[in-house]
Amino acid sequence: MKTTLTNGEPVSSDHKTIIEDGPRKGQQKAYVVLSEDERKKGFIRPLRMSYVHEKCGSVTTMGSAIAETYASDPYFYTGTFCVGCGSHFPVGEDGEFSWYGTSDKVGT
Ligand SMILES: [Zn+2]
Repeated sequence: MKTTLTNGEPVSSDHKTIIEDGPRKGQQKAYVVLSEDERKKGFIRPLRMSYVHEKCGSVTTMGSAIAETYASDPYFYTGTFCVGCGSHFPVGEDGEFSWYGTSDKVGT
């Protein structure tokens, strides 16, 4: 499936570089998402904007392109960011995140 960065630009080789300072510290420079065309084909999960890191209890809210990618393809990502910890951790059945207000695991 076609992918882009969250801003719609082509996937760059350095997008996974971790930001060292400022309000986005710990996040990647950019994130890969399904292209807008792919996301428009429809969601197979509810569109959910926020998830909880079960280890620390922090709630992280995503940008819409990432949220729509999760709803289109729940298995697209292997890990995601926690604003509380300032780092990335695994998602999936054995992962550390659930959708806010539910017991549904992120990445399932
Ligand atoms: Zn956390």
